[in-house]
Amino acid sequence: MAMKRIAVIEGDDAAPEAMRPVLELLHNLNLPLTFEYPIVGQPAIDTVGSPFPDAARDMIDAADATFFGSTSGPSGASLMYLRWGKQTYANIRPCRYFQGIASPLANPVGIDFVIVRENLEDLYVAVEGDLAELAFLDRPGRTTRKPLRELGQGRYAIKAITREGTERIVRFAFELAKKRAKQNKVTCVTKYNMLRESDGYFLEVAREVAEANPEIEFDSFIVDDFACRLIREPQRFDVVVMPNLYGDLLSDAAGGLLGSLGLAASGCYGDDYAYFEPAHGTAPDIAGQNIINPTATLLTASMMLEYIGFDEQAKRLESAIEQIYADGKVLTPDQGGDATTPAMVQAIAAAM
Ligand code: ATP
Repeated sequence: MAMKRIAVIEGDDAAPEAMRPVLELLHNLNLPLTFEYPIVGQPAIDTVGSPFPDAARDMIDAADATFFGSTSGPSGASLMYLRWGKQTYANIRPCRYFQGIASPLANPVGIDFVIVRENLEDLYVAVEGDLAELAFLDRPGRTTRKPLRELGQGRYAIKAITREGTERIVRFAFELAKKRAKQNKVTCVTKYNMLRESDGYFLEVAREVAEANPEIEFDSFIVDDFACRLIREPQRFDVVVMPNLYGDLLSDAAGGLLGSLGLAASGCYGDDYAYFEPAHGTAPDIAGQNIINPTATLLTASMMLEYIGFDEQAKRLESAIEQIYADGKVLTPDQGGDATTPAMVQAIAAAM
């Protein structure tokens, strides 16, 4: 296989403590993989005066994918580029229980679903402003029945749901459901009863895509009902597609079902690029202690290996993680163990 290039940004606070041993594990797989390290964030500001210099962008462009540790602060500019610049419209957040995970649920067995979050639109177009700017619309709200100018002083945010953006994310969800071994089901989550124009449109377009894929079961829930079912009966879900904001919130909640954000992997896919970043933050409160749980970073690495064509190694990595959890001997403190981050990664590498 041709050499694949990965751009690596190690991230901030405790994130590099998970990234470094995981990169070592990837390196030791002896695959045709090269790792390049664009300089972004504070070190880039210190050296060239910009948080996201052209050289870093070129390195990301030249790579097959980017592997990103969690960031805070000035590294954000590179994330913006990876998301909106590279049009990575599908944020994929798997949530799968395996034996040995310290889940807060009495019965987590069988949890295996994926949240497919639209990643570029909805409220995240970030068009906000003063309500006075919209006075010209002279249009009453369906509920308030008052023209906007009569609402008084305040702000607005635009929620944009486009046909193109919705079609491509729902299609992505259906293609994913076809590949998965589980139930072959896509669930759409919106608040269409309240937001008839925007979420109503998302659901309408989703139904059109569903009609074109009759071999896959399709159902739909209102987001508040879904939130309840997510906790009460998570086993019933397979692939769940939703607009950006609900996906952002509920995928962290899904991480909570497994008991630790340290288990939540994430990948953002576009038509010709993808970047991979664990779903958790930078865990500043445990930085410097080498106890950050590397599982999310490892599962994220496994998604990346699959994306660049190393399916077999991706599966081996996941099996090794499962084995270490089932053994229960080498786990980090958030999972009730006393292992350090490098020790847990080494145990997983040995199990591969
Ligand atoms: P951000 O704003 O970057 O999301 P945050 O502090 O709000 O940061 P996290 O960094 O995700 O959110 O941390 C939330 C809590 O979960 C913290 O107590 C942190 O230590 C813990 N945590 C997050 N990731 C991990 C991990 N991989 N292993 C162990 N604990 C983690």
